[in-house]
Amino acid sequence: MKAIAVTPSTRLVDLVDHPEPSALGPTDVCVRILDIGVCGTDREICAFEYGTPPTGSDHLVIGHESLGEVVEVGSSVQSVRRGDLVVPMVRRPCLHAECVACRSGRQDFCYTGDFRERGIKEAHGFMTELVVDDEAYMNVVPRELREVGVLVEPLTIAEKALAQIRQVQMRLPWSCPATGAPKQGCHRALVLGAGPVGLLGAMALAADGFRIFVFSREPAPNPKADLVRAIGGTYLSPADTSIEDLPKAIGNIDVVYEATGASRVAFDVMKVLGTNGVFVFTGVPGRKSPIEVDTDLIMRNLVLRNQVVFGTVNAGRETFQAAIRDLGTFMRLWPVAVGGLITARHPVSAYRELLLGTSGGIKNVIHFG
Ligand code: BGC
Repeated sequence: MKAIAVTPSTRLVDLVDHPEPSALGPTDVCVRILDIGVCGTDREICAFEYGTPPTGSDHLVIGHESLGEVVEVGSSVQSVRRGDLVVPMVRRPCLHAECVACRSGRQDFCYTGDFRERGIKEAHGFMTELVVDDEAYMNVVPRELREVGVLVEPLTIAEKALAQIRQVQMRLPWSCPATGAPKQGCHRALVLGAGPVGLLGAMALAADGFRIFVFSREPAPNPKADLVRAIGGTYLSPADTSIEDLPKAIGNIDVVYEATGASRVAFDVMKVLGTNGVFVFTGVPGRKSPIEVDTDLIMRNLVLRNQVVFGTVNAGRETFQAAIRDLGTFMRLWPVAVGGLITARHPVSAYRELLLGTSGGIKNVIHFG
């Protein structure tokens, strides 16, 4: 069957002929892939910055943002049925007995680093026709989300961040995550970057009651700025607001949700994080030359303003469930904006341009099914 794969030893990105899955084990599920999102990680793997084939294979089938349809289930599968739409999880646990995270089903917090990730690290991904995996990694998506279900995996990044923001801000007794009380003055979120992770993060924070500000390179007007306005947010760019002036435009910055992977911008913005603020990193920067950072100012602010900085990667099962629920909420609140996140559905034959070229827009999707 067709699959899009990289071969690191020869630095090739190709459409390959990949063996069809063989007989299913009792808890296995066979999924026909419908849609696959193309993301920065895929493009970096195609630039051979990272990406590791499974043991015994010289190529790695890429792709981890997927939506598929169950076509066959093993004899003891209980949680999914033929015809269900599903989004498979990405990370698989390490095998070390002492890794409490993996042993607790929370491989997104794996201690050893010996986890595998489908389409990224030592396990084939989903840019292919059929995929088999254990039912434990499948998340059923309601039919009404067919057109946008491919956004579930990128949304899990924001959902995992939001769950942690809520936990951190439980330290503020007036904070609504703890009390369920109406949102008060502690809910201004600044999103850095207007790519899919940033915009989905903005939606998740807005649906949770935050006032949203999105700071992105491109001056308005542009389609991303329109989308931010459509969800009730404010779009800012360096052309109209400098980083130093962000607190004037926003007020106390309670949350920064970083989704650019650009360390210069991130550390500049960290200097304007508000009192009792939380700064969340989600982007993975490339390895460039070191930059100068005002460490005294940042450290003083961290202490004197009770700030918290954390990074977050990948997502567990509950987070996938939350993403599926919230995508449904976004569709009720802002159907046009959610649809607008998907720039286009492309045929498999467009893979080179999408993975190696300079494709524009927000989320480009390859249609397999
Ligand atoms: C994926 C995560 C993965 C991370 C690091 C991201 O693009 O969404 O699932 O853990 O890359 O490999």
